[in-house]
Amino acid sequence: MSGESQGKKVVVVGAGWAGLGATYHLAQQGYDVTLLEAGSYPGGLVAGWKTSGGRSVEAGIHGFWHPYRNIFALINELGINPFTSWTRSSQYSPVGLEVESPIFQHLPQLPTPLGTFIYTKFKRLPLSDRLSALPLLYSLIDFDNSDDGWQRYDFLSARELFKTFGVSARLYKEAFEPMLLVGLFAPGEQCSAAATLGMLYYFILAHQPDFDVVWCRGTVGEKIFRPWVERIEKLGGKILANQRVTDVITDSHNRATGVVCGDRVFDADAVIFAVGITGMKKIIANSPNLRSRQEFCNVNNLGAIDVLATRLWFDSKVDVPLPSNACFGFDNTTGWTFFDLNALHDEYKDEPGSVIEADFYHANQLIPLENEAIIAKVHQDLATCVPGFREAKVIDSSVIRLPQAVTHFAPGSYQHMLPAKTSFENVFMSGDWIVTRHGSWSQEKAYVTGLEAANLVVDYLGGGKAANVLPVEADEGHIQVARTINKTLRQLGKSILPDVWLP
Ligand SMILES: Cc1cc2nc3c(=O)[nH]c(=O)nc-3n(C[C@H](O)[C@H](O)[C@H](O)COP(=O)(O)OP(=O)(O)OC[C@H]3O[C@@H](n4cnc5c(N)ncnc54)[C@H](O)[C@@H]3O)c2cc1C
Repeated sequence: MSGESQGKKVVVVGAGWAGLGATYHLAQQGYDVTLLEAGSYPGGLVAGWKTSGGRSVEAGIHGFWHPYRNIFALINELGINPFTSWTRSSQYSPVGLEVESPIFQHLPQLPTPLGTFIYTKFKRLPLSDRLSALPLLYSLIDFDNSDDGWQRYDFLSARELFKTFGVSARLYKEAFEPMLLVGLFAPGEQCSAAATLGMLYYFILAHQPDFDVVWCRGTVGEKIFRPWVERIEKLGGKILANQRVTDVITDSHNRATGVVCGDRVFDADAVIFAVGITGMKKIIANSPNLRSRQEFCNVNNLGAIDVLATRLWFDSKVDVPLPSNACFGFDNTTGWTFFDLNALHDEYKDEPGSVIEADFYHANQLIPLENEAIIAKVHQDLATCVPGFREAKVIDSSVIRLPQAVTHFAPGSYQHMLPAKTSFENVFMSGDWIVTRHGSWSQEKAYVTGLEAANLVVDYLGGGKAANVLPVEADEGHIQVARTINKTLRQLGKSILPDVWLP
């Protein structure tokens, strides 16, 4: 910390992974940082809380995949131990068990994507369907998360991409679309092909262990955010809940000077927005200063997706083969996951009955249902996957509706997503929908963009050190060679052919 950073006021808006990440680094560097959160507690989409009956609930269960290097480094730095060991997972359809995944890092390492292809146990999908994915490998080489890559693939939907590369209908319906529904929260026709390739490469294909995952042994709120918030407050960072930001005040020098929150104004030498798309659209709608800039008006072209998180307490213990499970084929445009919390959460280890979390993504048609109807459907779908649930009775339940909550990477949306730097010289953006070349996704991306925004503030205000953002693990050697050859050929083609075609 240097004297120069002291007294410089930074206001961060939104206390999810992005906002807390930015606030933590800036507080460590000695800035006078205030984090304003509209909700009653920090955590954003990952917040957890207790029901009036004292039960722990949260806005969906969150996995931490092998490539989440920055989050794992944070956990080490905080000296906490929130996670389970690596867990295996399975996939169900209404017909029964479809896929079992091993712990990939425990098996002999093969050049990617061989390990994923060979070690994943498909129970029904014929080999000929699986082999129809091979031509798609070209697009995984061709899409390198560069701006050019996004421009070329973002206007295409995932469904069109898979169709163009000859993926069989069965492989699409039983493997790729289920991955999209749980990874990008939308069916293939509604997902950008660029986001699809980026997400598949990051979570599954870049390196054999990438699909290995750990979970928190309780709510993320309790296991990670509580100790993290305590640490931030010890460093002098102020985290204020129930503070809904409505506007920013700007001066004639293209700078923000304050953040408006109801009838209070928080003075600021720099501002970081760390709110989701829906929250940002509301702030922009309220703010004549932001509305005066095209880039912020363009955010209105972006959308978000409905999610539903349910938790069921049963009167008896049902044997669930693996703790984390993804399901497809129950509703056409909805994917869902269920988790055996007796196996994952310390709190439920000795519970006499099963405690199951079931989360539904792209849950548009489920959100309007009454709680009883939702719980009856969850119970029935669970019993289809694991017949033991037929006999078990639900003795308590929680339903959390999350309308317009998660980022929608729709075809054509990239052009409207904001980069970290805005046209105001001291206003910066972060969150899982912000354009970054880092290559990570979801919670890790949100945290990384928070650090990247904090680094821009350090750069702008001076007086602090930049946070060390760990890059994603380098591509394997054969992928690097393939990408270099592809890029060279592409550039050669560009130099000799007229540039008249659509990207
Ligand atoms: C059910 C579900 C399951 C998921 N599963 C996984 C998973 O397994 N693994 C994974 O990595 N990711 C998962 N995700 C995605 C992950 O939760 C997000 O990528 C990540 O939490 C986004 O963090 P963020 O900081 O960008 O935004 P958010 O968490 O959305 O935080 C934004 C914050 O801004 C606040 N805010 C909004 N408007 C205002 C305002 N006007 N003033 C002040 N504050 C405001 C909000 O209240 C919120 O706290 C899941 C999401 C859901 C919903």
